[in-house]
Amino acid sequence: MVRAMLKKVQRRVLVGDKVLVGSIDWIDRRGMLMNVFHRRTENLDPPVANVDHLLVLFSLDLPKLEPNTLTRFLVEAESTGISLTLALNKFELITQEELESWKIRLRGWNYEPLFCSVKNKLRLDEIAFMLRNQTSVIVGPSGVGKSSLINYLRSRFGGKKKKKRWFEDQSVGEISKKGRRGKHETRNVSLLPVSGGGYLADTPGFNKHKLLKLKEQSLHFCFPEIRKMIEGKKCEFKDCLHIGEPGCAVKECGWERYPYYLQLLEEIRIEEKSR
Ligand code: GDP
Ligand code: ZN
Repeated sequence: MVRAMLKKVQRRVLVGDKVLVGSIDWIDRRGMLMNVFHRRTENLDPPVANVDHLLVLFSLDLPKLEPNTLTRFLVEAESTGISLTLALNKFELITQEELESWKIRLRGWNYEPLFCSVKNKLRLDEIAFMLRNQTSVIVGPSGVGKSSLINYLRSRFGGKKKKKRWFEDQSVGEISKKGRRGKHETRNVSLLPVSGGGYLADTPGFNKHKLLKLKEQSLHFCFPEIRKMIEGKKCEFKDCLHIGEPGCAVKECGWERYPYYLQLLEEIRIEEKSR
């Protein structure tokens, strides 16, 4: 039950919201929603509030890992300011040499990915460990194994016969978008309890790309290798875009993703002009 006053202030209550519940009826396990506390993060897709962690999942093969697509997802994930883990699935499909070469390549991007295989249940405990004590959302393109991973975690952590406390009841965590979307687009999101007090949204994220809403000057914060370059030595100009300005600390060559950075910068410019 949402108090009338609250309805006026908040458009809606999201999964993941920290709330104050009063007038609790312990028998019916119902209560009155009195307040929704300040959200640390929102506007994500799926609509989950207070997300602490994004698990960016890609596969090494089927579909092949494609640096440009990976960069777009990573930049979008970085742009939320939420901490992220990169996991690369289906590692049993590639050779040890290929795996080592990806490791080195991604280290150049300043990422240390976790290689896993959902199919063979390899290194999934490490993924579960990453999800402890926080609310996470899995993001990544289609076919990489997101649903398989969610199903695995549900079977691993959701099947216990532990008596749920009323506020852990899944119906509390469910939100229906019925009414806001068309009949066929109705989607429910709930938070699955996972290892060590963590929660995972059971719906993968980032279906709508908001990347181009970034400002030109913010793009470099979404590239960890640029962040590293400007950690020690700052560029001469505060709003440096690293496109040849004098006194720029960001090298134009020697790092793989510079062309991607320039390409995204251009797309953001075009988008800004069209607004
Ligand atoms: P989603 O679109 O990201 O949710 O991907 P799905 O979970 O639907 O998986 C897509 C396909 O990849 C399915 O056929 C899965 O069985 C398969 N798959 C998932 N994980 C693995 C893995 O570790 N190795 C291999 N070879 N296939 C996998
Ligand atoms: Zn610069």
